[in-house]
Amino acid sequence: MKTHRLLLVNPANTWRRGFLLRNESRQAPLGLGIVAALTPSEWKIKIIDENFRKFRFQEADFVGITSFTSTIARAYEIADIYRSKGIPVVIGGIHASAMPDEAALHCDAVIVGEAETTWPQVIADFRAGNLQKIYRGSYGDMKQSPRPRHDLFHPGYYFASVQTSRGCPMDCEFCSVPAFNGHKYRLRDVNEILDELESLPHKLIYLVDDNIIGYGTAAEAHARTLFEGMIARGLKKEWFAQTSLNIAEKPDLLHLAARAGCRMMLIGIEAEKPAQLKDVNKKLNLKMGIDVYAKSFRAIHKAGIAILGAFIYGLDSDTADDVRQRTTYIKRSSVDVTQASILTPLPGTRLFETMKNTDRFLVSKFPEGWQHFHFTDVIFKPALMTPAELAQVVTESYDRLFTMSYLRFSFLRTWWNTRNLRTAVWAWNSNLNYRSIAREKHICSDYSQNSE
Ligand code: SF4
Repeated sequence: MKTHRLLLVNPANTWRRGFLLRNESRQAPLGLGIVAALTPSEWKIKIIDENFRKFRFQEADFVGITSFTSTIARAYEIADIYRSKGIPVVIGGIHASAMPDEAALHCDAVIVGEAETTWPQVIADFRAGNLQKIYRGSYGDMKQSPRPRHDLFHPGYYFASVQTSRGCPMDCEFCSVPAFNGHKYRLRDVNEILDELESLPHKLIYLVDDNIIGYGTAAEAHARTLFEGMIARGLKKEWFAQTSLNIAEKPDLLHLAARAGCRMMLIGIEAEKPAQLKDVNKKLNLKMGIDVYAKSFRAIHKAGIAILGAFIYGLDSDTADDVRQRTTYIKRSSVDVTQASILTPLPGTRLFETMKNTDRFLVSKFPEGWQHFHFTDVIFKPALMTPAELAQVVTESYDRLFTMSYLRFSFLRTWWNTRNLRTAVWAWNSNLNYRSIAREKHICSDYSQNSE
């Protein structure tokens, strides 16, 4: 049987913009690692990763490209090169899943959804010379998911990425996770995760789940067993994960996570006023109540864990003053690291449909315009200010949040609050990363000439 050459490509935003391009924040393309693991063992597989090196043409028999919305224009460029040479191309990932008709213009087949339930059929159809235009995946049992081929990832990633669960039962207006991974929370086998962690040479780990403690007792028990397993196996990794604010109500779980190596938790706080949380349907924070934020932060710090607070600027009930007040709130709160993004309506979300149906998008040239969808450009008409006002007040806010004197103060505060120097150093490094992103221009050139 012929040995096929499969080339997998992780494209980058050609403007080098967005949260995920700095050394410390790059994330390995886990989806491509899973696709590689699902490919017959006799195939030769290579990953070209533009996070590290610009794509140059390489011979292949079959090409698979993954992409976010902000990298899809580059994905199409690369796909077009291979198609012009008659080499079949498949595009998957979160953007292509939301906009399969657009992606289909640039490739032979589009994978909508997760690869586990589609890739074996794609391989069979490729071998038969009979690729279908669209393959639609279902939400498979994660216990059947193969371990990603970490050996194919670029060795330059600071953090190894590991996934322990998928899906989210919540329904935040701006989030594409439920559309892509479904509302049901699905869990991987704990021993398999521990084996994967043990196999990785990296000391630093990013647990990429949307919520490491999940929703409900089974998910919480899964997290607990995982943390206990990390301790029992003496893994000695240091890690951060995303979670929800209600983890603060579980001090024993927090302390267990810290003993298992947790240094930082990313929490979607989004806003500090109920009206703004209602805007984006952030039910969990609304249910807990903004008056418990400070108490929750204290509980997380008590375990020695730093908080990476994710906030959004430009919500529909935001005036310029509201954005300023959010920045003041962030500085006065004990959040250790700030990820303050500009509201970005991604394809696949209700927010995207609303903006499209009400003609509020400012970007009109696609697919190039998708490159603005990286969370630090103003790409829509805000409800209560002009785009230029939003860009201006975000720039002011970033200037206030990322001065070196404030970051030094923040470092000492994190050290004091967590009583953990190592945690404070993690927070410091993360803040430097966000600082370099914050120094970019935040209005997109597509319309900046005529948006005043
Ligand atoms: S933002 Fe978080 S809680 Fe909300 S839908 Fe997305 S993953 Fe779920």
